[in-house]
Amino acid sequence: MTCERLIELRRVSKAFGATRAVDDISLSVERGTIQVLLGASGCGKTTLLRLIAGLEKPDSGEIWLNGERVAGQGAWLPPEARRIGMVFQDYALFPHMTVRQNVLFGLTSLNGKLSQAERAQRVQQMLDLVGLAHRSNCFPHQLSGGEQQRVALARALAPKPSVVLLDEPFSNLDAALRRAMREEVRQILRLAKATAIFVTHDQEEALSLADTVVIMREGKVEQVGAPQEVYLRPVNREVAAFLGEANFIEGVAQGEVAQCALGKLPLAVPMHGKVSLMIRPEALCLTASQDGNAEVVAIRFFGHDQLLRLRLTDGTLLDVRTWSNAELALGERVAVSVRGSVMAYQS
Ligand code: ATP
Repeated sequence: MTCERLIELRRVSKAFGATRAVDDISLSVERGTIQVLLGASGCGKTTLLRLIAGLEKPDSGEIWLNGERVAGQGAWLPPEARRIGMVFQDYALFPHMTVRQNVLFGLTSLNGKLSQAERAQRVQQMLDLVGLAHRSNCFPHQLSGGEQQRVALARALAPKPSVVLLDEPFSNLDAALRRAMREEVRQILRLAKATAIFVTHDQEEALSLADTVVIMREGKVEQVGAPQEVYLRPVNREVAAFLGEANFIEGVAQGEVAQCALGKLPLAVPMHGKVSLMIRPEALCLTASQDGNAEVVAIRFFGHDQLLRLRLTDGTLLDVRTWSNAELALGERVAVSVRGSVMAYQS
């Protein structure tokens, strides 16, 4: 039987002594999608992956895989029977085996089920998929970090697992390679039509990779949604601040709009009463103007853009991202306006 919900967790908890690593989590993963678990160190991401893989048993709750209960209510399917592929940050390649042999090792679980010719063909397909066919006879130490990670991915995908779990797979790579690998891995997973759960504590990585982002905090799920949704409409101030730079200014909401130091702003979600308005620095627009409502009090240059700190007439401080060549100087007066609608939280 196939099931659109490939993985389903129902009220799953797991504690280590007094630490509630995973605390009453319910979650589902659709077939063929990439779900990213994002959260600060220690929030329970790895424990959640290990529960899905069968490397930990839940204290309570149920885990369903492809329509079958694999943990909970007396059910238990061991890890080797779950058809789950895993990729870790340290690649865990065998140093004495060539690239081809490492990928072939991924087929061990299918021993006896595939002929030698079928195994060789599957390995070749995987090497083609990750673009390493020309390096099949190299040993891991002859490869770059990014290439080693692609071998690890090929090995995990070779037995056609129902799901691939990736735990911080890029954390050993430098920033530029990390960015390139993200795009590559995303494409490889798409081509293989794989379902994947990816763990990271890097916001940019989560937002650029995921179909669905799951934001975790202290063993609980705070929000689940598409990258645009969680970034533009965070459920609370903590999630908003965790996902990226955010200005919070006080205001009074009157349904679809709120009055604040920047004037009347449209709200993404209607509210009433005293609120804190969340405005991303890139949602603010500036124009130099003698009688503008703000003054530039600090400038930090980043190359691709710059962050300006403004002081509004009423003393409110705001951070604004502008393109790096915006000709604004310290002390200059500017007019500030907001693009689009903003989120409001009861204050
Ligand atoms: P990181 O990003 O640092 O890897 P994480 O979000 O993956 O963190 P987990 O590794 O799942 O978090 O850990 C969640 C909590 O459970 C932490 O407080 C951790 O110390 C604790 N924990 C995890 N595994 C064990 C274990 N085997 N024994 C005791 N405590 C554990």
